[in-house]
Amino acid sequence: MVNCTLCGLATAHPLYDDEGTPFCCPACLQVSELLAEGNGETAEETAVSPPTHSQSTTLSLGGLWCTSCSWLVQETLQRTPGVEQVNISFNQREAHITYNPDKLKPHELTRRIRRLGYHAWLPGENPHNEEEAFLTRLLISGVLAMHVMVISIMLYWREWTGRASADTQWLADFFQIMLLAAALPVVLILGIPILRAGLAGLLRLKPNTHTLIAIGAFSAFGLSVRNLLLGNGRVYFDTAAMLLFLVAIGHWLELRAQKASSETIEKLWQHLPLEATWITPEGEKRVPVEEIPKGARIRVRPGERFPVDGVIATGMGDVDESWLTGEAKPVSRRSGERVLAGTVNLDGSFEVVTTAVGHETVMGQIGKLLHQALWQRAPIERLADRLAAFMVPTAVLIALATFIYWSTHENPETGLIYALSVLLIACPCALGIATPLTLWVGLGQAAQAGVILRQTGVLEKLAQTGAVFFDKTGTLTKRPIRLQTFLTAPGISPEQFWQYVAAVEYHSEHPLAEAIVDYMPRPDMLLTAKNFQAMPGRGVTATVDNKVIFVGNRGLMSEAGLYLPLALEETANTWHTQGLTTIYVGWEGQVRGLMGLGETAREETAETLQQLQAMGLHVAILTGDDIAAGKRWAETFNIPVFAQQTPQEKVAHIQAETTPTLMVGDGVNDGLALAAANVGLVVPHGTDIAQAAAEAILLTDDLRTIPWLIRLAQKAMHIVHQNLGWAFVYNLVGIGLAITGHLQPVLAALAMVISSSIVTSNALRLRRFKPDFRPTEPESAKKVGGETAVLSPHIIHSDFGVS
Ligand code: ADP
Ligand code: MG
Repeated sequence: MVNCTLCGLATAHPLYDDEGTPFCCPACLQVSELLAEGNGETAEETAVSPPTHSQSTTLSLGGLWCTSCSWLVQETLQRTPGVEQVNISFNQREAHITYNPDKLKPHELTRRIRRLGYHAWLPGENPHNEEEAFLTRLLISGVLAMHVMVISIMLYWREWTGRASADTQWLADFFQIMLLAAALPVVLILGIPILRAGLAGLLRLKPNTHTLIAIGAFSAFGLSVRNLLLGNGRVYFDTAAMLLFLVAIGHWLELRAQKASSETIEKLWQHLPLEATWITPEGEKRVPVEEIPKGARIRVRPGERFPVDGVIATGMGDVDESWLTGEAKPVSRRSGERVLAGTVNLDGSFEVVTTAVGHETVMGQIGKLLHQALWQRAPIERLADRLAAFMVPTAVLIALATFIYWSTHENPETGLIYALSVLLIACPCALGIATPLTLWVGLGQAAQAGVILRQTGVLEKLAQTGAVFFDKTGTLTKRPIRLQTFLTAPGISPEQFWQYVAAVEYHSEHPLAEAIVDYMPRPDMLLTAKNFQAMPGRGVTATVDNKVIFVGNRGLMSEAGLYLPLALEETANTWHTQGLTTIYVGWEGQVRGLMGLGETAREETAETLQQLQAMGLHVAILTGDDIAAGKRWAETFNIPVFAQQTPQEKVAHIQAETTPTLMVGDGVNDGLALAAANVGLVVPHGTDIAQAAAEAILLTDDLRTIPWLIRLAQKAMHIVHQNLGWAFVYNLVGIGLAITGHLQPVLAALAMVISSSIVTSNALRLRRFKPDFRPTEPESAKKVGGETAVLSPHIIHSDFGVS
């Protein structure tokens, strides 16, 4: 008996790798190769990780009203000795802090934040539900504000009906004191946080909407207290209380909408089980998932979710991968195939060898990307910010002018009241919330439909798309591609041919290489290849058996100076007419064989291309495949195809386009084109989603998601513009009424809140925008999804060396 090097289980029939290391099963052998290849950590992670002596933590924050509040917290933390780096996300209500543990303890950080009047919780502490706590304050203030309103209406009524007489003045005075008593708690409960947010804005030299509201509410309250004490003039406790109450309702709606939009996204990665059944030499045990090391063998029973990414060692059954690919139909999986954390094992009993745990799993990577996306700000958000930053001082100036005008023409008190209305109506509250909210909802909708966007700004760029370019092989074609036929030159045995071809293609990530390696009759006789080199768009080369082998298209053959025998050329031409993709193989001055691969378009290709054209977009295919193949595609789909393109030529095409472009390609070999386009959208084939050099990542296996995504982006931007337009008109009309004294402050406050709710609900409208297409015909979906899922890398295939 020998023990498996990876999972530690004893076995009587070990398998050995090249170095003679024993493994208990093919899955363990595969996983150990995978791990040796990838070596875990991505370069990005190593680059950003801080020096080892410092630590980082993420605090949850509470009580932030606006971005000025997060700025204040950030500034305070940055000035704290021992803090090295602070990053605050207002959207997430979180602070990432890197600090020196010798100089500072984490609870010192939370104490500092609390001293400013905000809440902060360490990881592991249970933050109280901010929405609930706020609702309580809102309700208490609401009851008091209603009292204020009722009493005020009584007093107005007394005046309007001419019953104000000296006899009943004592009663009016009494009720005015009642008003003070009811309004004071409202000002304390709701006014103080707003005042703090407003002051934070002033400190930052960027007065914000809360600065305006605070000025409005406190001046109305102050003026009323003064008049009450002096025993003359009117009181405006109703304005102060109602203003604060209404603004608070708006804030509460905003909190709820934010929560709803981030929930859409969070739902996606709450699929990970917390525990796993680890199979060890001592027996099985349930442990928390984060304790599972890579290479560990775990058991997954029917109905359970896979807790880790891994390779199936034993077992067979249907797996529901819908959360990841959007594909509703279960996919059947058996030993040697890859499974992903979070997908559901419907009916199999599996033993799985772990390849990735936690944030390294595909799901973990997606979660991380989405999280990062929420931390970014889109250009249009910054535009809204700039507008708001411009409008606040403008509002103050107009209010000041109104005050001066009416003070001189009537009296200072009228001036103050009119100015107050101007301040309230000009307050660009709606502007501040609506734009980011719309974009988050869009991001969440896209994620739900199976497209991960790296930033909210991608939506803005997508909406402008005027031209869409597609890569062909691996993007518009069905996977897996099948090798149909091959031919060797006279004197070359099929064995030798295949040994050379397989040794070279084993190192390529190209979908054609995948098909070729898959076809290889006996993978265990793999020769070693040296000096492997990929020539994107043309083929690959490597030294095998001291010969330099070239595998690729005809262009590569002539480039490498390989002579093409007539017999082979004729066959190649026939294959071309039959629609096969022909790959040439040659060494030592001559082409030695051909392979014919049957490439078929995906079912939804035609519909996708048509939809995009119908949307008025310019659509074209850029392919490295040869002219004949290009012509076939052009005729089948009736769109321009540019064939025999090197990666540089693809880039040139994209750059020559005058409208913003979207490039859709597959992973590594289209990197240049993806980067050159306005937006690069990648159809990933590896499991390392985060490494794909694109701003948008398509996880679902349905290309029709692309036209839908562009429509989503257009819709999102439409809503954003609608909201900005609404804010403009509203302000223009409102300010006009207010400076002429036609708008009571209470009504101005009401108008402000109604306007905010209008834009918020307009933004939430985007949540109803969902993909409307039916899955492609069931039988074909099975063909595509059945054997190779989108995410299976080519090195995993079921017949790996098992005999
Ligand atoms: P597309 O643009 O259609 O996706 P690529 O640019 O990836 O195609 O490749 C273009 C051509 O280069 C392929 O049609 C093939 O002939 C050749 N080629 C590229 N990579 C390989 C490889 N690994 N093995 C064999 N041929 C390859
Ligand atoms: Mg390709």
